[in-house]
Amino acid sequence: MWAEPLLVILNRDAIDCDEVRDVVLHEWIHLQQARTHNTWDAVQAAYGGQQQAEIVADCGARLLGSELTPYLDEAGRGCTAAELDHARALTQRQAS
Ligand SMILES: [Zn+2]
Repeated sequence: MWAEPLLVILNRDAIDCDEVRDVVLHEWIHLQQARTHNTWDAVQAAYGGQQQAEIVADCGARLLGSELTPYLDEAGRGCTAAELDHARALTQRQAS
């Protein structure tokens, strides 16, 4: 679950125990997106919409070892080179 401005809340009733690590990785990428663009609206604008921001979060989570990528699964494809570049930059983002 996403909550602005820079807070993520995980609902233990909505996530299976064996999915927690993967969900945290995906949500951590969202935090990096938000830290880069300041708000969720700005994140969506930067990526061309919510779905694309979700795809990049899945790509970042995959780079960090996640095998749970629901948005990629829904799209029926893998990450493009550009999406991986965005995701990689987010994983390497320095704290500010
Ligand atoms: Zn997400």
